[in-house]
Amino acid sequence: MGEGVPMDGEPARAAQESGAPSGATLDKRDVLSGLRCHQKLWFEFHEAYAPELVPDAEAEMRFAEGHLVGARARLAMGDGVHLAPGREVAQIEVVKRTAEAMERGERLLFEPGFTAAGASVRADIMARDGDAWVMTEVKSSKWPEKDRDREKKVALHLTDIAVQRWVAGEAKVPIARANLMYLNPECRHPDLSNLFTSVDVTARTAPVVLALPAAVRTMHAMLRDAEPPKVSVGDQCTDPDECPFHARCHDTLPDHHVSELYYAKKQARTLAAEGKTMISDLSASDAPNAPAKRQVRAVTTGTRIVEPGLANALTAIARPIAYLDFETVQLAVPRWPGCGPQAMVTVQFSVHREGFADDTTRQYLARRGSDPRPQLITELIDACAGAACVVVYYEAFEKARIRELADWFPEHASALMDISDRIVDLLPIVRDHVYDPEFHGSFSLKKVLPALVDLDYSDLVIQDGGAATAGIYRLLFDQGLDADAQAALRTDLLAYCHRDTEAMVKLVAKLKELM
Ligand code: SF4
Repeated sequence: MGEGVPMDGEPARAAQESGAPSGATLDKRDVLSGLRCHQKLWFEFHEAYAPELVPDAEAEMRFAEGHLVGARARLAMGDGVHLAPGREVAQIEVVKRTAEAMERGERLLFEPGFTAAGASVRADIMARDGDAWVMTEVKSSKWPEKDRDREKKVALHLTDIAVQRWVAGEAKVPIARANLMYLNPECRHPDLSNLFTSVDVTARTAPVVLALPAAVRTMHAMLRDAEPPKVSVGDQCTDPDECPFHARCHDTLPDHHVSELYYAKKQARTLAAEGKTMISDLSASDAPNAPAKRQVRAVTTGTRIVEPGLANALTAIARPIAYLDFETVQLAVPRWPGCGPQAMVTVQFSVHREGFADDTTRQYLARRGSDPRPQLITELIDACAGAACVVVYYEAFEKARIRELADWFPEHASALMDISDRIVDLLPIVRDHVYDPEFHGSFSLKKVLPALVDLDYSDLVIQDGGAATAGIYRLLFDQGLDADAQAALRTDLLAYCHRDTEAMVKLVAKLKELM
């Protein structure tokens, strides 16, 4: 699963002997970091214990699912020799085992390791093909349905397998073909026999491989410097994901810097290059959309802007109201009938009921051991019964989850789609009518709430959706969690989801005051 190579004695990797200019061996993740940003690689290499590099709960969840995908991939390939069962096996030992297995004439290797040219890698799977080998890199992401998205996906992972192909080649192991293996979007639980689909990327890795020797030599030379290289922030900070050092490199920007301009990343860079570095330097014509223009007005005048259309927009919220919020778990390997790989499954909801004879809060949170969806659906339909409207914050999410539940359980489709039809989205009501300078260019509930209402998430153990998803994953699947820890986690998850709907109740009340 593209695991990094454990390096003995981290973080003092510069002390290792490799014959490379930095005196160290770079693993695949190092090389990928260096290709993205030299400063990122320098931080990771010289500050391996930096707090930014401690995996959070979401990362742990992805690792756990990644390990499951790896195990499934090995199962799908058949009987092979697993050369590094567990991350604790040192690279030098894996390289030795790999050479011995090849010498013995083994035909299928799992996690073979190679070290050459100042770099170390472990391939996921290698199968003998005559005198050469077919190398396969297993990804725990889903193979996209559209051609355009497939191109992007392969481009994202090409360097990954190219680095491995290059190091294997440098170690004198001939690679006949290179494949990327993805989760097959057509697979449905319980039949996991078609969980994977492969793409041959041999030809496309060739030019990437050619560029690697010089690039890796430059990385080694850069790592000899005692100070990190100066690199300007840019697209590499968020593409393909947010760099762990994002805050370190960006927090130097002052409040209301032009980079906060709503939905205008590219324009913000152009404006900054023109010397307009603060939103207060802008005029309305510099802002590319209506909320951004409102943002410019609010920041330059230092006041909250409320548009006259707010009262009319709020008429869509008719009583009695069910304020609804979902939490989900996303599983690379499907666990429940009908689910495909990486399906986002709703396993928790909170409903605040307002304007009913019984203004109660209804909550559901899955329990481990069985498919939670049938019970969730029954309780959800009951919680929303009689509501003239169902208020959510960002309807695309809740509507998509309801559609999926209806597809999985067609016997409830009519009642579920009736809930969907009654949804009123609070997000565009705020976005199109209100701007407070404290939004800082974001209409997420976490930003809007403290700016408008005296309520936030700081008193909760779980404070954001990512932590909630990771918490649900642990609650349902972490076998090491004892009963007390499960009970505590359950309480924290219920409190978080409850806060999301409580937030919407208070937000609507505040918006009515602002009319
Ligand atoms: S935040 Fe950007 S500039 Fe800073 S280390 Fe990461 S990628 Fe490099």
